[in-house]
Amino acid sequence: MIVMKFGGTSVESAAAIARVAAIVKAREDRHPVVVVSAMGKTTNKLLAIAAAAIKGPREEYLRQIHDLRDFHSREARQVVPLEDRAALDRFLDEHFQELTELAKGLAVLGELTPRSIDAISSYGERLSSFIVTQAFRHSGMETRHLDSRDLIVTDKRHTQAAPLFPQTYARLAATIPPLAAKSVIVMGGFIAASEDGVTTTLGRGGSDFTASIVGAGIGAEEIQIWTDVDGMLTADPTILPGGHRVKTISFAEAAELAYFGAKVLHPATVLPAIEKSIPVLILNSRRPDVPGTRIVAERVHCENAVKSIACKRKITVVNIHSTRMLMAHGFLRRIFEVFDRFETPVDMVATSEVSVSLTIDNPARIEEVLAELRQFAEAETERDQVIVCLVGENIRYTPGVARRVFNALEGINVRMISQGGSLLNISFVVAEKDLRAAIEALHAEFFSELDPAVFERNEAVHA
Ligand code: ADP
Ligand code: ASP
Ligand code: MG
Repeated sequence: MIVMKFGGTSVESAAAIARVAAIVKAREDRHPVVVVSAMGKTTNKLLAIAAAAIKGPREEYLRQIHDLRDFHSREARQVVPLEDRAALDRFLDEHFQELTELAKGLAVLGELTPRSIDAISSYGERLSSFIVTQAFRHSGMETRHLDSRDLIVTDKRHTQAAPLFPQTYARLAATIPPLAAKSVIVMGGFIAASEDGVTTTLGRGGSDFTASIVGAGIGAEEIQIWTDVDGMLTADPTILPGGHRVKTISFAEAAELAYFGAKVLHPATVLPAIEKSIPVLILNSRRPDVPGTRIVAERVHCENAVKSIACKRKITVVNIHSTRMLMAHGFLRRIFEVFDRFETPVDMVATSEVSVSLTIDNPARIEEVLAELRQFAEAETERDQVIVCLVGENIRYTPGVARRVFNALEGINVRMISQGGSLLNISFVVAEKDLRAAIEALHAEFFSELDPAVFERNEAVHA
């Protein structure tokens, strides 16, 4: 068995779904278990519907629901055979009717809870997995749809639920292998349910996580993450196009990159796969012949110090200053207790004799945090900052990486440099306005020469 996960862009339209069907069909003998995301930007649209429902007017969210139905109906019709159209219409009617009732309920309550956000955002994967199932049948594959909410059991932390692994693995192992022996399995990513059956979700980008959980639960021989890029690239293509493909990367490096913003993989994805030593591949559904990126358990020998550059945008830096307190013991604990109390995770920390700077990526409760901090120190924030992170297992074995970073970034204000405890990254903070220049300079510095065993040069841009 292999797990094949297709992201939003890979199922964004009838044409994309047809490509997916062909890719899966070519691998039918490996007993694929297919995990799909919502079609295109559907999750964002569902969240917008939820927000519009509590804001009003009624016409506005009803129109958005109507548009979303039109989109699904239009694309699905092209991949579902004529004889199944009536069933498709019934399915869409039923689901969009429910969605409308839900939105109306929110409008009456005028309040959005994490639980109702999950209820609404689950429709994306419920619709896409049904449509993809129909499309697969149409292209001649024996296909079986499974509702992920019956298989993935989570805690009740709505919008960010964590799987309860023993129950989940037990259900997956009991249900999937016998069915996958006879049919291609299709299930929605991202969605799950608590033990009492209430719909939950695994966090944005969570379909990668579903794929990995399923892969671990059934002991898959491989997990394939199909997306819209050739694999893990040496730089985020939305900031610097033309990065090179990384052919092989270690689990540790991939986890670090995902954590520091490489959206191509959800940060939690690699864990269940590592535990069971299942290789993970990142592949391009538009160019299925490109070999992609292979994520492996062991360290990968590489002549380059750095494998890739990631960045985490929209970061807030919090500067805390106290001439009296810093050297006193317990000061840092007090600071972190405040962040903990307001459930605000801290990413990077730098200290000096009289001040502490740290970064957060969720400023939702920053005003409360600041108010508390100001009871014992001065505190202020800077918005629109970016954490840039160089990742590579060789960083710790290569002298002079920090010097090369500073040389390359001459003229750019760099702050809060830190070599993470894992020793496989160097990260630092720059202002958003300097981001592109910083990435360009670093990419030129670290990727002019490439170890051909590890990287595939992108000739298109660098010729
Ligand atoms: P999917 O919908 O398939 O899950 P995502 O949008 O979540 O796709 O992830 C793929 C995107 O990740 C790419 O289109 C690319 O813009 C972004 N990305 C960020 N950093 C990297 C990187 N280092 N290598 C490849 N892609 C990256
Ligand atoms: N559809 C969900 C999202 O957009 C999950 C995913 O695509 O991975 O976040
Ligand atoms: Mg994704």
